Amino acid sequence: MTTINLADRSVDLGEWAAATPNAATVFAEAVRSWLDENLVGEFAELRGRGGPGSEHEFFAERLEWDRHLAASGWTCLGWPSEHGGRGATIEQRIIFHQEYARADAPARVNHLGEELLGPTLIEYGTPAQQERFLPGIVNVTELWAQGYSEPGAGSDLAAVATSAVLDDGAWIVNGQKIWTSLAHLSQWCFVIARTEKQSSRHKGLSFLLVPLDQPGVTIRPIQQITGTSEFNEVFFDDARTNADLIVGEPGDGWKVAMGLLQFERGVSTLGQQVGFRRELDDLIAVARRNGAIDDPEILGRLRRAKVGLTVMEANARRTLSGDIVSATGAASVTKLLWANWHRDLGELSAAVVGAPTLIGPPATTEGRVNDLRDPEHVELDEWQRLLLFTRADTIYGGSNEVQRNIIAERVLGLPREARPA
Ligand SMILES: Cc1cc2nc3c(=O)[nH]c(=O)nc-3n(C[C@H](O)[C@H](O)[C@H](O)COP(=O)(O)OP(=O)(O)OC[C@H]3O[C@@H](n4cnc5c(N)ncnc54)[C@H](O)[C@@H]3O)c2cc1C
Repeated sequence: MTTINLADRSVDLGEWAAATPNAATVFAEAVRSWLDENLVGEFAELRGRGGPGSEHEFFAERLEWDRHLAASGWTCLGWPSEHGGRGATIEQRIIFHQEYARADAPARVNHLGEELLGPTLIEYGTPAQQERFLPGIVNVTELWAQGYSEPGAGSDLAAVATSAVLDDGAWIVNGQKIWTSLAHLSQWCFVIARTEKQSSRHKGLSFLLVPLDQPGVTIRPIQQITGTSEFNEVFFDDARTNADLIVGEPGDGWKVAMGLLQFERGVSTLGQQVGFRRELDDLIAVARRNGAIDDPEILGRLRRAKVGLTVMEANARRTLSGDIVSATGAASVTKLLWANWHRDLGELSAAVVGAPTLIGPPATTEGRVNDLRDPEHVELDEWQRLLLFTRADTIYGGSNEVQRNIIAERVLGLPREARPA
């Protein structure tokens, strides 16, 4: 019997699965053994590195790891084969995320390109744009940032004020974006800008692809409560991008911007939950070691966390299965569940670990005391990072309040709240 090499990019994983008995099991084994064989040598130290609150960790090495994944066919699994992807089914993508998390493999560096911009270009981009940008995402040679939020436009994204005008074959972009994750490490940013002067709200916006390495762009990292800087302010002062680097029609950017957000949901959620389970198991082990588990209040909270995780897993599976993958409100329920669970786990970890989590930062491994004003040299321990960074979970990707509004208005049919005209 010939064995197919599943890491070979010319194999369409969806077609292979349709023709293969026990495809899910075989696929899981292939991913598991590839990760075992490859997370070794120079890559071994990357296990568990990166991720929310630790994006700065081993960035150059993680970039190399991502390129190694790409060379072995493990990037952009869900994209169609004709665009350089692998044609994987949702089940295969879930399996990949789960095995990846189980192996404690490092956080990926081009999530925004692979999960958000790539699928958007496949859906709305021109063939020339697809040909120009998709290979850079597949091979991890160009990294992307998301330029949506502005100081006056976050939850109310339609208030975007950054402008762009066409002049002599180029869009000239002016304005400010904020909270732009990884812009300081990226080469490109997808930007929502107002291209029709007198327009307001959702009308007159366009979706532009803007190179970051140019004189008109200033990127200023914002220091977070963790001491690190995962996100930035990005200033556009007569920044330029070619006239043809607009996705969709001029003035029709809202449709493209919202289309992109549809891709933000879901499939990675089940992999994320493998990581959550590991955090909870580690915390339970700490509670056993330091005796916190004997406190009935803490024991009750740990038990509730375990039940919450099981509910979340069941919900994510239901959401991702079949018809309700795109049901209105389903993504909002999933986001609310995981964001609140994780924030609560951060608070619970402070109760379990006790004073050391709250009074940090601790001394570094070299015996030096951390200085939060010097983000390059801050070393929080995992519980401090969890406590501090999980505050962000209920904000990014749509805040708790916004998710509840969506569920209230679009699912439960409650009256709409007043909106700006
Ligand atoms: C870690 C992190 C990474 C991020 N990365 C990016 C990125 O890469 N690119 C990007 O463009 N953005 C990014 N963001 C920004 C994120 O999308 C916004 O923070 C989010 O949309 C909220 O917007 P805001 O911060 O302006 O808060 P606001 O919208 O001003 O909200 C302030 C408070 O008011 C509440 N609120 C707002 N409107 C309503 C309402 N109608 N009803 C009830 N309550 C309401 C909110 O829930 C919140 O509690 C990131 C944010 C974080 C925390």
